[in-house]
Amino acid sequence: MRRAVVLGGSIAGLYAARVLSDHADEVVVIEADDLGEDGTGRGAPQRLQLHALLAMGHAHLEGWFPGITAELVAGGARPGVGHEVQFYVDGTLKAPVPDLRMLGATRPFLETRVRRRVAALPGVRIVRGRARDLLFGSGRVRGVRYTAADDAPDQAGRGEELDADLVVDAMGRSSRLGTWLLRGGWDQAPLHRMRIDLGYATALFRRGDELPRTVVAHASPGPASGYQPTLSEPGAMVAVEGDRWMVVLAGYTGHRPGRDPADFLARMRRCVPPLHEVADRCALLGEVRTFHFPESRRRDFTRLRRFPGGLVAVGDSVASVNPIYGQGLTLAALQATCLSSYLRTGARPHAPALDYFRRAAVVVDAAWQLSATADLAQPHVTGPYPRGYRLARWAVDKITAASVLDVEVNRAFMDVAHMRRHPKSLTRPAVLARTARVLATAR
Ligand SMILES: Cc1cc2nc3c(=O)[nH]c(=O)nc-3n(C[C@H](O)[C@H](O)[C@H](O)COP(=O)(O)OP(=O)(O)OC[C@H]3O[C@@H](n4cnc5c(N)ncnc54)[C@H](O)[C@@H]3O)c2cc1C
Repeated sequence: MRRAVVLGGSIAGLYAARVLSDHADEVVVIEADDLGEDGTGRGAPQRLQLHALLAMGHAHLEGWFPGITAELVAGGARPGVGHEVQFYVDGTLKAPVPDLRMLGATRPFLETRVRRRVAALPGVRIVRGRARDLLFGSGRVRGVRYTAADDAPDQAGRGEELDADLVVDAMGRSSRLGTWLLRGGWDQAPLHRMRIDLGYATALFRRGDELPRTVVAHASPGPASGYQPTLSEPGAMVAVEGDRWMVVLAGYTGHRPGRDPADFLARMRRCVPPLHEVADRCALLGEVRTFHFPESRRRDFTRLRRFPGGLVAVGDSVASVNPIYGQGLTLAALQATCLSSYLRTGARPHAPALDYFRRAAVVVDAAWQLSATADLAQPHVTGPYPRGYRLARWAVDKITAASVLDVEVNRAFMDVAHMRRHPKSLTRPAVLARTARVLATAR
């Protein structure tokens, strides 16, 4: 194809641009935000919150950008494996999985390096501007209208049109794709929502030698507490570049954490031992930043009967689920891989990309299933309940309880949590039988 245009140059847009550079002579990424050298920007304020990179996301990152792990580690990211990656449920440390790997880095640090790699690819251009609308013609999207960024005075306010064989929506959760489709006489994808009313607060701490064997510590409420933070506060911390700990605390509805540093520290002291220790021994750097996440959302493009050719969507514009499970970056990478395999079938870019959306729906379903099953355990989350929820909940509670005690059950659990396997894999007879044995022995 001659030209592909990617709308949004954050993580999903960057992965899409990487994929498209294998298929198009020219790839133009249009990004509204000035991300600067530190990569923080304003367009996606969640960038400043803790971002864990799941094992599957890390594998895909390295697959699409070979050598990037070494580059990140050389810049100060911390690699963690086995017992350095600690997951707690109801305040109890789960059996460590020896080969589980995670990388500790802030999101801007990671994304800036991915952006540099993408910008260096032949034929790829990253342009600052805001996409305003799609251009339609002959049953397909034939391009995009955008305005150059307002801090480029020579171009301010000028509307530009850019022809494209394929347009990718990577504009995140607030994408206006649905409105543009309606305006062009097409249907928008049905939106599924689950209200969760989650609050997040993230802070950075100076890292010394206090916990040399910890890269990630993650604490969540589980079956023993009825999914209420009664046994320990939910939160996580990651060793990141610049010899710092990044710590996040989470809570729902009236239990949402605030900005007050004293409250933040008090709450860390009610959390699992590593977070408690950081609160006691490390200096808080800068302010506590909060984020409110009212609902998980997904747009189901596979339900559409009419869809224009020349258009796909990736990342949060398709699905944005409870961030507690850390799936977004990995989902973006997996969708890029789906786009790659779709294009490798020889699909014509001008044709409706329904087969791409079907492929991507498999990974989106997996992420949604995992987060929805866990979220529905919260008393304040009232649905919608998926079919088979009661059975799934029962099985997940048993597997979670056994995963604290047994490394093989925990491996099966972590393979799903890290998106290496589909949630269906937890219902394999071998996993269920081992879970039953472990729980019977523990009684
Ligand atoms: C509090 C919080 C914590 C999270 N923690 C994790 C975590 O631990 N691990 C994890 O994997 N995921 C996490 N996530 C999810 C993750 O942040 C998202 O899944 C990820 O940002 C999605 O990337 P994206 O590129 O689709 O969208 P975004 O990152 O939202 O980027 C969209 C981009 O599009 C640009 N844009 C928007 N409109 C236009 C336009 N009209 N024209 C041009 N550009 C435009 C924006 O400026 C922005 O740069 C978290 C999310 C939240 C809210």
